Amino acid sequence: MKDLNISARFIKGVGPSRLSTLNKLGIETVQDLLYCFPRRHEDRSRIKKIKETRSGNFETIKAKVLTFGDRMSKKGMNIFQVAVGDSTGVIHATWFNQPYMKDKFKIGQELILYGKVERYNYLQMNSPEYEILTGTEEDFVHIGRIVPVYPLTENLNQRWFRNIIKFTVDNYADGITDMLPFEMRRRNDLIVLKEAVRNIHFPASELVLKKARERIIFDEFFILQTGIALKRASVKIDLTGCSHKLDGDLIGRFKAILPFELTKSQSRVIKEIEDDMKSLEPMNRLLQGDVGSGKTVVALYALILTVQNGYQGAIMVPTEILAEQHYRNIKELVENLGVKVVILSGDLKEEERRRRRHMIEIGEADIIIGTHALIQEGVSFKKLGLAIIDEQHKFGVMQRAMLKSKSQNPDILVMTATPIPRTLALTVYGDMDVSVIDELPPGRGGVKTFFFEEKNREKAYKIAEEEINIGRQAYIVYPIIDESEKSDLRAAIKMHKELSGNFPDLKIGLLHGRMKSREKEAVMRDFKDQKINMLVSTIVIEVGVDISNASVMIIEHAERFGLSQLHQLRGRIGRGKHLSYCVLVSQPRTDDAKQRISAMLKTQDGFKIAEFDLEIRGPGEFFGTRQHGLPELKIANIVRDREALEAARKEAFELVQKDRFLRSPDNRLIRESLLNKFSREDLALASVG
Ligand code: ADP
Ligand code: MG
Repeated sequence: MKDLNISARFIKGVGPSRLSTLNKLGIETVQDLLYCFPRRHEDRSRIKKIKETRSGNFETIKAKVLTFGDRMSKKGMNIFQVAVGDSTGVIHATWFNQPYMKDKFKIGQELILYGKVERYNYLQMNSPEYEILTGTEEDFVHIGRIVPVYPLTENLNQRWFRNIIKFTVDNYADGITDMLPFEMRRRNDLIVLKEAVRNIHFPASELVLKKARERIIFDEFFILQTGIALKRASVKIDLTGCSHKLDGDLIGRFKAILPFELTKSQSRVIKEIEDDMKSLEPMNRLLQGDVGSGKTVVALYALILTVQNGYQGAIMVPTEILAEQHYRNIKELVENLGVKVVILSGDLKEEERRRRRHMIEIGEADIIIGTHALIQEGVSFKKLGLAIIDEQHKFGVMQRAMLKSKSQNPDILVMTATPIPRTLALTVYGDMDVSVIDELPPGRGGVKTFFFEEKNREKAYKIAEEEINIGRQAYIVYPIIDESEKSDLRAAIKMHKELSGNFPDLKIGLLHGRMKSREKEAVMRDFKDQKINMLVSTIVIEVGVDISNASVMIIEHAERFGLSQLHQLRGRIGRGKHLSYCVLVSQPRTDDAKQRISAMLKTQDGFKIAEFDLEIRGPGEFFGTRQHGLPELKIANIVRDREALEAARKEAFELVQKDRFLRSPDNRLIRESLLNKFSREDLALASVG
């Protein structure tokens, strides 16, 4: 069997200088070359008569060299032209500043040319790709076929690279061994890997190209899912977590003081969480629920459960405003039960911070609420039984891992309002169990969404005024804090002044990220206590803020916000029994911006919004794959190729079920690929290989 791990310098055409260019692209070995897939293909297989070509189109023609020569343009540029013709017409192939081209052609030679056809006084192709026919070739590289186009940097030439790949494929693809067993290939109708690699570079037809892509996409998903399956299995067999008793005095008293009845969804999800917490296996659960669906009370229930069992519970949130809100609400509800609640967020005085850390360390604090300050060094828990992360999409996996490492295997609950289709959730949060709250608490007044152009801004103010007159409150959100010379966007600070001038009867507050925590807290408290009618804010209120009397959300320059941000902002209203109004004020210019706004007008369903968002932004950006610690997918796309993803997932989980550590010799190649793609720690793979 050929060794594919040899240096790329063994490939014909790769000298020392080109080798170093390849190295810069991350290509070291022959194997790397084989797996450097084209970005796209161009179909240059349909050869046209010159008369049939259309100017403006990329076309492939076959013609004879009639004459050639070069001249200087007025600007001193060398222009080299070859006139070629077939039985229907003549085209001038033109190259600029490449005088050496004239040594390549002879009159009477037959050429195949591919390029964009332009019509001046005559037909022309600028710098076309060409192949000189000698009558012996059966296998074109650059034209006369479906041709690969590679993702290269400028200083690498497609033509050169294509030749390198052609040589590599012709001489080494044979050495590729297939990691998938025959039976699995048959079940999923997949071609052999070496055929797939050959054809993804130089396909004989669109059909084989499709089969080649299918195989390689499957492999990418299969490795991804096998990694996930292993990770999940390693969590599952770990029996060193905290086992919680479910019944008891504290949880009983907590249920009794709840100000409302839980929805069916909330109860179901609590049951799922209880089952996890009861077990010695550490819980590793994701809770999805749209904005306003009532995730906080579920979190609190779990926190009380852990406290009842003599543990501490922590909840980490992305903003200080949210930490403060949770702190106030939770404290108010549970301190009468004898539960000690402590907040640990950004700008505490050093002495106070030390005092609170101490309380956490000696176990005096039962429930700890904080921002990322919670995972900073110096914070240690006496006995952490449960760690919750709220608004998980605002954090990365690293932060989750760090919070987990704060204690011996605490139960983990992660909450998010970004509802994603199940398969995708199973991939992105692949090692977690998923619970879903799929209804809103009863008695909500609903939200109407409007779109006004900037010239109609007054109408938005009018809605706010009317609502304030009947006792409601309004948010008005701007994309920036301060004016800057570079943009003509309306900014929160300036608009706060202007609105205060225009509406002297209203109490208008200001909130933004540059204010001190204490100032932010004071403003939020005043808004909560209805001492402020209208809150001018930046995106700092995006997540979590819960003030049910607020019924208007005006978003200025709505085109500047992402779809999930808009949805989250709208989620700040409609939390009470009153009908609420979300007003997007915008002058959308790009197609993307128009699509986002139209999606907001079309639906309020967070699930649909997430699908739109995925469509508009693509999965890479939507999930920030990197932050999830998943290996990069080269050509597979978890949205477009959803079916392949599911098929691969099924196979992967069955495989790991049968061979927990991939120890069987049959699975050696799979294990090797896996260790290539994931880091050992990432997968808790220490036991593998
Ligand atoms: P989110 O899921 O967006 O975090 P919250 O937990 O902030 O939502 O809940 C939104 C609002 O709904 C809060 O004011 C909360 O008190 C209220 N709420 C939660 N559950 C119920 C329920 N079962 N019945 C009535 N109101 C509820
Ligand atoms: Mg919330």
